[in-house]
Amino acid sequence: MLIGIDDTDSKRGMCTTYLGTLLKKALEQELNETVQLRLVRLNPTIRFKTRGNASICIFIRHSYDVQDIVREHIERMAHLDDDNTHPGAVFFDDDAIPADIRCFARDAVHAELCLENATELIDGHGLDFLSFKSGRGLIGALAAIGATVENCSSYELIAYRFERNFAKKRYINEQSVWRADAATYPYTWDTLDRKGEAVICAPHSLDPVLYGIRGDDPNQILAAQRKIISEPFQYLTLYRTNQGTDAHVRPAQIRELEEGRSYKVTAAVTRAPWTITGGHTFVLVGDSGARLLCVAFEPTKQFRTTVRELRVGDKVVVQGSYVKNCLHLEKLRVLELCDQYKSGNPICCDKSMKSLGQDKGFKCSKCKAVKDVRLKCQVSIKREVAPGAYEVTPSARRHLAEPLIRGHNRGYAVFPSR
Ligand code: ATP
Repeated sequence: MLIGIDDTDSKRGMCTTYLGTLLKKALEQELNETVQLRLVRLNPTIRFKTRGNASICIFIRHSYDVQDIVREHIERMAHLDDDNTHPGAVFFDDDAIPADIRCFARDAVHAELCLENATELIDGHGLDFLSFKSGRGLIGALAAIGATVENCSSYELIAYRFERNFAKKRYINEQSVWRADAATYPYTWDTLDRKGEAVICAPHSLDPVLYGIRGDDPNQILAAQRKIISEPFQYLTLYRTNQGTDAHVRPAQIRELEEGRSYKVTAAVTRAPWTITGGHTFVLVGDSGARLLCVAFEPTKQFRTTVRELRVGDKVVVQGSYVKNCLHLEKLRVLELCDQYKSGNPICCDKSMKSLGQDKGFKCSKCKAVKDVRLKCQVSIKREVAPGAYEVTPSARRHLAEPLIRGHNRGYAVFPSR
């Protein structure tokens, strides 16, 4: 049977995955069988989210009446006194997940759904559920059930702190994280931001997570974890997850874009990039007569250097979330670069010729050839960007965004950011 749970934490702390880990322990003790956990990230632009819009799904091989244990954990652990915490749990006890629940899960990663969408499906399929306060968590709980194994192709191993340390500063030895990353990348990713020299596998918030190692291969993830020197942890839980899959992104044309959803759009640059105070870089692209403003925010760091190299006419695929009429860039694929020219002295021997004075022509300083050209020429500009796919720096990456290192062998060059 499957149990989906969501919306138990608040900005003051807690984490739905922590509840999942404690529930897993309790269920394994009670039922005497192994319980597995899935961590399902949903639409990253949802306004009610506390942090990373995570929900969890618990797998138990057989069916049992476990509602009381789940209720007891939610009542004890969820931040029910917080205005923005509205837990929900859904129980699914059948072999195959119905197509409409799978479709609901796919939509929950991309769009904003309403509670009625979830309750109609729960009622329609006669599913048991637990709802606290407004019960908004039922949306994420049902979506966690509908996310299939294929949707969840990566893993995260999370180490949880001892409760006595929750209020203290986390201790993680930075050098050991560098060693863990060096030994296991590219099978693990987003442990470090090497250029920014930042450990990114550990949160800064008050939640119980000490660190989380993400990757494709549980053995490599475990190898990385073993290299990390840190304060002691109380639990270590492996989740199968839809993180790093780009599940939130859908292809679309500009006129189809809807607020709060994530897209990839094939377009041409219609206005060269510009950077505003604060370091955010904008670029305008267009397709079939429609225009789209895109932004690479300052925290995306060196990714902005690539965006700044774009010129009018370049063909690109822009990818990110559409918020307030602007695409917040997560990735950029340069399909085709437009030839660019500037007016300048003619070229000879690979160098710009010297002017002999107004209307007197030009001379090559190497081979001494003289060109009787009155006017300046159109000189081709060397482009500082190559066709291929680029991404934001790891510290600015969304949980759902697929690191380019996972997507090689797709027939085009990739420039992973590490
Ligand atoms: P954490 O990651 O720390 O567990 P969170 O960021 O997941 O917290 P929650 O506290 O779980 O945030 O709140 C997210 C809320 O948004 C939940 O009630 C969930 O049901 C709801 N939600 C998630 N995805 C969608 C969606 N696509 N449409 C509408 N509501 C959603």
